[in-house]
Amino acid sequence: MKAFEATRIFFDQAADRLEIDPDLREALLMPQREVQVQVTIRLDDGRLANYIGFRVQHDHSRGPMKGGLRFHPEVDLDETRALASLMTWKTAVVDLPYGGAKGGIGIDPSKMSSAEIERLTRAFVDQIHDIVGPDTDIPAPDMGTDHQVMAWFRNQWEKYHGFHPAVITGKPVEEYGAKGREEATGRGVGTLTVKLTKRLGMDASKTRVAIQGFGNVGSHAAKFLHDAQFPIVAVSDITGTYYNADGLNIPELLRHKFAHPKGLLEGFERAEHLPLDALLKLDHVEVLIPAALGGVITQKNAQDINAKVIVEAANGPVDPDADAALHDRGVTILPDILANAGGVTVSYFEWVQNRQHYRWPLDRVRQELDHTMNAAFEKVWQMAAQHEVSLRTAAYMIGISRVRRATELAGLA
Ligand code: NAD
Repeated sequence: MKAFEATRIFFDQAADRLEIDPDLREALLMPQREVQVQVTIRLDDGRLANYIGFRVQHDHSRGPMKGGLRFHPEVDLDETRALASLMTWKTAVVDLPYGGAKGGIGIDPSKMSSAEIERLTRAFVDQIHDIVGPDTDIPAPDMGTDHQVMAWFRNQWEKYHGFHPAVITGKPVEEYGAKGREEATGRGVGTLTVKLTKRLGMDASKTRVAIQGFGNVGSHAAKFLHDAQFPIVAVSDITGTYYNADGLNIPELLRHKFAHPKGLLEGFERAEHLPLDALLKLDHVEVLIPAALGGVITQKNAQDINAKVIVEAANGPVDPDADAALHDRGVTILPDILANAGGVTVSYFEWVQNRQHYRWPLDRVRQELDHTMNAAFEKVWQMAAQHEVSLRTAAYMIGISRVRRATELAGLA
């Protein structure tokens, strides 16, 4: 199933409950603007390489649009459109004054040098600089991009428009970034995993966790949950699954990742090395956290999943057919638009600090993040109980209601 079709199905399940008529649904779902640009760079070996860059601006009824930049081979217009729409509902669920957007380029950054990625980032900014800005559309990191890419992006954008660090978030802390931004998505995932499992009567020390993806989000979620006494029995990255039935030594895995030139777990010996797809099907796992790609849990493999709880750290990891099958089996799914909203929340704090020329200490960032995530969780939990719907439908109902209200208040001529 295509990514945008999946988002539309989740949207419709909530819109049905809210009794939104078809014309308004279309207005809420259709992106404001979709931009596709040529990005040409010279590679280190002297050849020219041509790529397509995308930026989809989905909705701005609640504020400037916000969403990550993804460098990954599977990036295309459909996926970018789906992710942009998820950002609209996500910023609304956690009640940030933003709309939704997303962008990316279909490349494999692990096969490019740092100099090539810098040229690519700058060439992309040359093409889209006039449609992004601190009051219009504010990019951030996503898969395959990090604080260094954000710093290059800002530097290139400011060559056209002058000093405005709030044009992008997820910057290095020394370059107007926010303390705690890098850990924020993983911390939010961890905070809500603790809250949800407690609510379901599960005991942390007996709740085994498997995490797919050990990048920014997966590694920070692992650290948070390890510190909270959860046994993390498996993690994976593109080099395979690393398993220990008694719980992995997460600090050791983190040291290995940071020492590896590409940040991978390759060569880690103090765990059993299993194939990539083994992680989803492990027998003795209570919580599964997909923290890599979208579309990884489908009707084909949903029956192999033994976890009782799925926390969607990645965007769109469970497709609608799998979602229905897992729901029927009593699996609780914490949806992406709530579970991974910690990143955009601290991006908002970064934007606020940039605009005020003021810096918050890490304690304040963490305190405000925890408060925002907990408050959003409670609202979603109550909505689900009141309407007897899944946490996903409840989260969409809250997000869509807020966007609908803003759209109607602004006036639909
Ligand atoms: P990242 O590039 O830092 O890490 C991705 C990780 O996934 C890497 O460890 C990579 O090796 C691994 N991976 C890739 N394909 C895999 C596969 N088939 N099986 C197992 N592992 C695989 O990316 P990230 O920033 O951590 O983002 C991960 C997910 O979280 C994405 O879906 C992203 O949209 C979502 N997300 C990220 C943020 C953020 O702040 N970075 C915020 C919200 C949502």
